[in-house]
Amino acid sequence: MKLAKNLERLGTESAFKILAEAKKLEAEGKKIIHLSLGQPDFKSPKHIVDATKKALDEGHHGYVLPNGTIECRKAVTRKIKKLYNAEIDPERVVIMPGGKPTMYYAITLFGEPGAEIIYPDPGFPIYESMINYTGAKAVPINMLENKDFSINPEKILSLINENTRLLILNNPNNPTGAFTEKNKIDQLVEGLKKFPNVAILSDEIYSRQIFDGKKMPTFFDYPHLYDRLIVLDGWSKAYSMTGWRLGWAVWPEKLVEHVIKFCVNNHSCVNAAIQFGGIAALDGPDDSINFMMKKFTERRKLIFDGLNDIKGIKCVMPGGGFYAFPKVINTRMNGEEFAKKCLHEAGVAIVPGTAFGKKAIDYVRFSFAASQDNISQALENIKKMLG
Ligand code: PLP
Repeated sequence: MKLAKNLERLGTESAFKILAEAKKLEAEGKKIIHLSLGQPDFKSPKHIVDATKKALDEGHHGYVLPNGTIECRKAVTRKIKKLYNAEIDPERVVIMPGGKPTMYYAITLFGEPGAEIIYPDPGFPIYESMINYTGAKAVPINMLENKDFSINPEKILSLINENTRLLILNNPNNPTGAFTEKNKIDQLVEGLKKFPNVAILSDEIYSRQIFDGKKMPTFFDYPHLYDRLIVLDGWSKAYSMTGWRLGWAVWPEKLVEHVIKFCVNNHSCVNAAIQFGGIAALDGPDDSINFMMKKFTERRKLIFDGLNDIKGIKCVMPGGGFYAFPKVINTRMNGEEFAKKCLHEAGVAIVPGTAFGKKAIDYVRFSFAASQDNISQALENIKKMLG
């Protein structure tokens, strides 16, 4: 068998490997607290489940349009209007099996040898993996240089050259939990006027998980960018629907036909009945999001205080998402050693920082999408482990 050369450049998402390792330990009888995967631990809201069941009962089980049903795409545009007061043509919306395929397609549309793509580092590992896979040059934005992991618009703009095709941003950020305020996005957008050939992929999957009553500084606020802007969002994190595999993105009008071709070549269409659930989520009440945010706010404090209370660990207060990204090097272990010890000795599954970029060697990521009891127990186990 001779495999394609570019396979050697394809990366992965280590959080799934850690989950497999943790499950193996559980099967051997060990008790593991899962703080590795980034998924809310709440049930998907009942009205969403009911709408999906009803759709199946009524026979919505066939193929639908590859870009999503018009009803689902319209529901997305209604929600964008409601949240951000932006008018989006539903023909620019593409419903996807999750948020991830949007980054896969966006990077594939622009990436090839000779092209450059800028991405956050540390960042969601699929960005770098897919950029490398296409043969494009992966140009990192150093997210560690500012203490609060916030972005520096001038530095980002300085990374752009004539080969730059795509700029990927993720706010709130996974894995750092950083939240970049609108004034910085304004500065960046102003600077981008000088680079009209650079497309932007704004990954806003954590747009509904922002703390302290702050508003999402969405890229939908800049209509002059719409002909080169891709906004990735979805249901996974906002509505606790990670396993449903349902996401959406808004694309520049001229890219939609290419994206639809990818959908047809790849998955044909997204599960028909689930799109009814998606509509119910977007049109329904936000009670479940408010409830989750109340819980996440309590857990954020618990984990922030708890981690900073442990000798050798320093944690920045997360501004969005549900991740804490502490520096652990002063425990005399790097992030990988620390995460390994946590899993095997403290029974706590977390992800080393290097899973999100090589520079983050001193860090680990804790997902606080877990009950307060589990978080408290995990902190206690780690304290004991460190003696
Ligand atoms: N973007 C970021 C930054 C993420 O952290 C994730 C999931 O963890 C995704 C996109 C993908 O979300 P989905 O599960 O909908 O594919």
